[in-house]
Amino acid sequence: MFEGLSKRLGDVFDKLRGRGALSEADVDAALREVRTALLEADVALPVVRQFIDGVRPKAIGADVIRSVTPGQMVVKIVNDHLVEMLGGTVADLDLNAIPPVVILMVGLQGSGKTTSSAKIGYRLSQGPQGMAAEFGGSFSVKRKVMMASLDTRRPAAQQQLKILGEQTGVPTLPIVPLEMPLAITRRALETARREGFDVLILDTAGRLSIDEELMKEVADISALSKPQETLLVADAMTGQDAVNVAKAFNDRLTVTGIVLTRVDGDARGGAALSMRAVTGRPVKLIGVGEKFDALEPFHPDRIASRILG
Ligand code: GDP
Repeated sequence: MFEGLSKRLGDVFDKLRGRGALSEADVDAALREVRTALLEADVALPVVRQFIDGVRPKAIGADVIRSVTPGQMVVKIVNDHLVEMLGGTVADLDLNAIPPVVILMVGLQGSGKTTSSAKIGYRLSQGPQGMAAEFGGSFSVKRKVMMASLDTRRPAAQQQLKILGEQTGVPTLPIVPLEMPLAITRRALETARREGFDVLILDTAGRLSIDEELMKEVADISALSKPQETLLVADAMTGQDAVNVAKAFNDRLTVTGIVLTRVDGDARGGAALSMRAVTGRPVKLIGVGEKFDALEPFHPDRIASRILG
């Protein structure tokens, strides 16, 4: 684990062997390596600074226990701080509300919103049966789920969710041509209520970048649908931009959790830390593939080792 960083810190500390406690100079030399590791993992710069400022006092003066090298000691302190900043433990979806409980999916275009909507819909509608042991909490109850696409911008978007619904066996709100997003929201809520759905997943229109008109649209949808969960979907490849994206959405909506997609790719996942730091909200789920069962709970310790490399 952490071979990259461990090795680098080993090199830094080689000349310092034998000291009892970590001095300020040792720690600063080590933290320069940590800073590089975080930047390489695509953690946004302001978040890197915040991280270093947070971990520095924990490392200075720390006693190096006999069985480890100073490098290993710093890696442990850094890793523990990173896991803590990522939320510590797995964060469950909060579906404790009067049904239909609304999950609002927001994010940039192409981030994986529609795919993630279907993945969550599928997982919640399956209940504990056939469930990977990893899932628990809100996923251990079988729920009646409906999905609705509010994306009237991209012509094929509503159709895409409908097809995913057919593949996953999760019902979707019938499409009414030319209906506007707020009207669809209203109809989705009424239908879900009338037909006794437990959960309603609303997939919103994406944006290429932060766009005021679309932001207002999603804020209006949020005000109308009063979501219990507002999940910000972001691609794990998002680099320095993660902070801007997270801030823009979080300023307009109460983001309650993050879904990090494409964790199956090469990305080191620094976006998880950036977005968590900016919103203060946990990453709740990760997408690990294109198929609808490629969804997993987020384990802070696993991403921490990936970020530290
Ligand atoms: P949207 O515009 O935000 O709704 O994005 P889509 O859900 O249409 O996803 C865009 C593309 O990313 C599609 O080709 C998806 O199959 C793909 N995708 C979404 N999530 C994942 C993931 O976790 N892993 C991989 N490899 N591909 C994903």
